[in-house]
Amino acid sequence: GDNLPPLLTRSFLKPIGNDITDGVRVLQLNSVSKTLGQNNDGFVRCPDEALTWECRKYLIIQEIIQNDPDIVCLQEVDHFKFLQSVLGTQQYEGIFYPKPDSPCLYISENNGPDGCAIFFKKNKFELVNYDTRILEVWRVQSNQVAIAANLKVLETGKEFSVCTTHLKARNGALLSKLRNEQGKDLLRFAQHVAETRPIIMCGDFNAEPCEPVYKTILQHKPLALTSAYADLLAAHGIRLPKPVQSESHDEGEEPVDNHEPPFTTWKIREDGGEVCHTIDYVFYSKDKLKVNNCLMFPQDQEIGLDRTPSFRYPSDHFSLVCDFEFTESYETNE
Ligand code: NDP
Ligand code: CA
Repeated sequence: GDNLPPLLTRSFLKPIGNDITDGVRVLQLNSVSKTLGQNNDGFVRCPDEALTWECRKYLIIQEIIQNDPDIVCLQEVDHFKFLQSVLGTQQYEGIFYPKPDSPCLYISENNGPDGCAIFFKKNKFELVNYDTRILEVWRVQSNQVAIAANLKVLETGKEFSVCTTHLKARNGALLSKLRNEQGKDLLRFAQHVAETRPIIMCGDFNAEPCEPVYKTILQHKPLALTSAYADLLAAHGIRLPKPVQSESHDEGEEPVDNHEPPFTTWKIREDGGEVCHTIDYVFYSKDKLKVNNCLMFPQDQEIGLDRTPSFRYPSDHFSLVCDFEFTESYETNE
């Protein structure tokens, strides 16, 4: 509507220049499914109207289009056809893969299962091929999925692989072990699809940097992945402080020994209270790609005491937006 305030203000780490010639901009976002957002999430501090799909769908589109990414990786998509038709008008082509037993299906008046999606600009890339996977844990299929697509830059012929996933949610030692196993399967899958191509791997990993899956991904030898935000912020000597939470029950948090942003999701739930932490990432092949810029997160006061979602932001997860370019070693490593 005309009276609604605009999306939360965010700016890029570096002022946008026109110096990047063969750059690739990626946007990663858990966009909150319609069914889960309205019926399951318990976002008690978000006004009911702001939680409606009618309200959120335009903000999701606005968030994507105003950042003008070449690639969009989404989780909790239960309106793929809507996104496909709107983003289709902006030169995007999409791939969707639903979760095998989506929690959406257990809620009446659902719009089908939620799943992961990748959109890419078809005037910039050719889709070489893609594959999908139900992630396995100890050789047994789980309820979490991944998509990996090999894309060729039309202008240069350079190829790379983009991969997205949404790992198992919720806390507990067993679940963090399960996410680690899902991460191992994701790495196998990504390597199998990408072969020797550089990889951009984005998702909602539902795991803080201290969880085993984070280390598993960064320590995988053949893939040699690193985290885009942590790398770029470290290169600029920026360590962002954890914001003060109004309803925090945490006592004596562990010191942070990485440069990841202090949060990628910030919400207040009916049951769990306030949650503000980093669980979404953009990983990339450090030998063949270089990250040049990223979209910073909104200020605490800007987000407001009710956190997100809100009339000013359609999800409890903030989008991660990164600019990549191919390094010189792209050719020589072939
Ligand atoms: P996950 O545990 O991965 O979570 C599913 C979704 O719930 C995610 O999108 C997650 O969002 C969201 N979520 C996380 N924490 C909370 C919270 N505290 N409150 C509300 N929502 C939250 O689920 P699985 O895919 O493994 O599926 C299991 C779920 O499916 C069960 O929890 C159940 O709800 C549902 N189910 C129901 C059945 C039934 O008969 N009713 C049968 C089988 C499954 P995010 O990742 O952003 O945190
Ligand atoms: Ca969610």
